[in-house]
Amino acid sequence: MTGSVCIIVWLRQDLRISDNPALHAASQRGAAVVPLFILDEDDPWSPGAASRWWLHGSLEALNRDLRALGSRLILRRGPASPVLDCLIEETGATAVYWNRLFEPWARRRDRVIQRSLEDRGVTVLAFDGGHLVAPDRLVSRSGTPYRVFTPFWKALTVQVDPTPPLRAPAALPPPPAGLTGDPLSAWSLRPCDPDWAAGLRATWKTGEKAAADRLDRFLADVAPDYKTNRDRPGLCGTSGLSPHLQWGEISSRQVWHRVRGHMISGALPDGAGWAFLRELGWRAFCAHLLHHFPTLPEDNLDRRFDRVAWRDDRDALARWQRAETGYPIVDAGLRELWATGWMHNRVRMVVASFLVKHLLIDWRQGAQWFWDTLVDANLANNTVNWQWVAGSGADAAPYFRIFNPVLQGEKFDPNGTYVRRWIPELGGLPDKYIHKPWTAPASVLAETGVRLDGNYPAPMVDLKAARERALAAFRAIKNG
Ligand SMILES: Cc1cc2nc3c(=O)[nH]c(=O)nc-3n(C[C@H](O)[C@H](O)[C@H](O)COP(=O)(O)OP(=O)(O)OC[C@H]3O[C@@H](n4cnc5c(N)ncnc54)[C@H](O)[C@@H]3O)c2cc1C
Repeated sequence: MTGSVCIIVWLRQDLRISDNPALHAASQRGAAVVPLFILDEDDPWSPGAASRWWLHGSLEALNRDLRALGSRLILRRGPASPVLDCLIEETGATAVYWNRLFEPWARRRDRVIQRSLEDRGVTVLAFDGGHLVAPDRLVSRSGTPYRVFTPFWKALTVQVDPTPPLRAPAALPPPPAGLTGDPLSAWSLRPCDPDWAAGLRATWKTGEKAAADRLDRFLADVAPDYKTNRDRPGLCGTSGLSPHLQWGEISSRQVWHRVRGHMISGALPDGAGWAFLRELGWRAFCAHLLHHFPTLPEDNLDRRFDRVAWRDDRDALARWQRAETGYPIVDAGLRELWATGWMHNRVRMVVASFLVKHLLIDWRQGAQWFWDTLVDANLANNTVNWQWVAGSGADAAPYFRIFNPVLQGEKFDPNGTYVRRWIPELGGLPDKYIHKPWTAPASVLAETGVRLDGNYPAPMVDLKAARERALAAFRAIKNG
């Protein structure tokens, strides 16, 4: 099989054909191109169950799209370095191209692989394409990493004009004939016994085309009201692009240019457009933080938080995970997560705050649960946001900001639409009790069929007492 020139394009979190710098560059060289995906389960942060479900669909779609261009996806499983060595041996490839990843473990791994390949005369080319700005590019005037979002965002909007996205190649030279890989089904990425993914299937379509369609729908129907509706979990007020972005089915830069185009043509008001792009800026900021503070997934950025007296309460953690806290907005969010692999951002904050503050359980336990259950699980976004809620991170919420789940529910889900969607047992309650069913008179509960600690739990903690306990625990480390 060796003889003709061959380039391996190692695809990781860039499962798309358009605006894919590594694939684009390889397609220009006139060599055979081997699009490769490696399932490397030695990764310390290998995908959780919901992400594996997504990955299956994404790989299936990518293979379909590659075939339409005359190519196909090669799947191999195992530690990346020997898998690449093997494939180089089989194909005689003289170069490996990839788009850079910024997770600390991936950077370590890629450095070692690059050195070893280059020592043997194999060319390695690493491209940027996943973020609005490469996480290592922007630094503050003093040459240090940004720790606060607003100046980062200002620098991004002033210094960076994301280059226009690359077009998909019109055709791709196929991999060498006879080259084989694993069948996708052999990887068992999707659950079968039990099959818990019905809600995921009903909610999502995976792949590059699905991502582009979602962006189109967002721009047509949702984006104009993004600024006002983005905090309302009962409405369809956000893009739902996060899992597509996570697997690179669409790039931040593609989203940026489509949105800017709509703003410039007047189809999208500037206020709504910038409010949305700012969130993409948060995505870039999280990646920047993880790049500069690589121990963030394990360690508090503010080391004083190492002294927090977290409670090791497995029962309380399990009740939170099972959506049995007795606080409707929290339980609705955790049910949405379990059913769809996604949760509205506002509710993520409330749910996380409840775990960290009202239950005084270490944020890492919550981050781990999210890692396993989110289809958009992203090491930078997940870690930075959990640390933000806990108060231990960069630009974090102050320790005394403790979201009250009743007030948050009443403010952001005023008619209880979101709670009723996910907790139909409470559906008959009048709006004024929907976020605090324990305050409803017995007659109302009876009429609406709500049995506290029967078909819906009574609150698992008293909010006031739990708040005091949290404040005392956090005050102790600030003063210590
Ligand atoms: C505790 C907690 C954990 C989180 N874990 C993740 C995670 O694992 N993966 C993830 O992608 N997001 C995470 N987020 C951020 C945010 O909740 C999601 O990105 C957002 O809800 C995705 O929905 P959307 O695509 O409709 O967002 P939109 O409002 O449409 O925003 C567009 C895009 O901007 C980015 N974005 C939006 N908000 C944030 C944010 N706060 N931080 C970083 N990027 C953001 C996302 O890529 C998102 O797709 C977390 C937030 C919290 C509070």
